[in-house]
Amino acid sequence: MNKSIFVLGGTTWINLLNTTYNSNKEQVDILVDSSKTLQWLEANNLLRESDTLALENKELLDSLIYGLHSLRNLCKIIMSDLERHGELVPNTADQLVKLVKQVKVDLTIVQKNDKLVLASEGITAKDHVLYNIVDSIIHTLESTSTNRIRKCEAPECCLYFVDTSKAGKRRWCSMKLCGNRKKAAEFYAKKKKK
Ligand SMILES: [Zn+2]
Repeated sequence: MNKSIFVLGGTTWINLLNTTYNSNKEQVDILVDSSKTLQWLEANNLLRESDTLALENKELLDSLIYGLHSLRNLCKIIMSDLERHGELVPNTADQLVKLVKQVKVDLTIVQKNDKLVLASEGITAKDHVLYNIVDSIIHTLESTSTNRIRKCEAPECCLYFVDTSKAGKRRWCSMKLCGNRKKAAEFYAKKKKK
């Protein structure tokens, strides 16, 4: 499995959305496989050392995966709101507020580039993961223009990404997965026309 698919969305909540995708005409769901889910969490820097240990407990891991499933559904709604309205509809914002109420965080101070920074961290592994994903949603909503959030242009592909390129012309989830294939098809189509 190509692990770059875990992070190609460019931000955590879109990477969560991308945990279902099409591969050779079959739908893959990373969240149905607990070891792949752990790899996904690690690739997205969502686990502290203590979380990795805590998640050896199957019940805790299952509960986290359950939480990820519901959050992914909410991410789908958020994406569809952004595509249709350019912003969240009030009902979606309410669902986000409801979810955040269940997440418990603590304040801490961490050292970042020789400076002390006040930061929040989840109390349990599940709190920590959900908090960070919601944080990425809020960060996208306040800092990213919606025309920079796009679906891959390949019709059979359902992956989303934030286009952080300077020109803002990114078309594919990744060159490797879709870009090269599509470019080759376009090239041959042009050649045929001539
Ligand atoms: Zn694609």
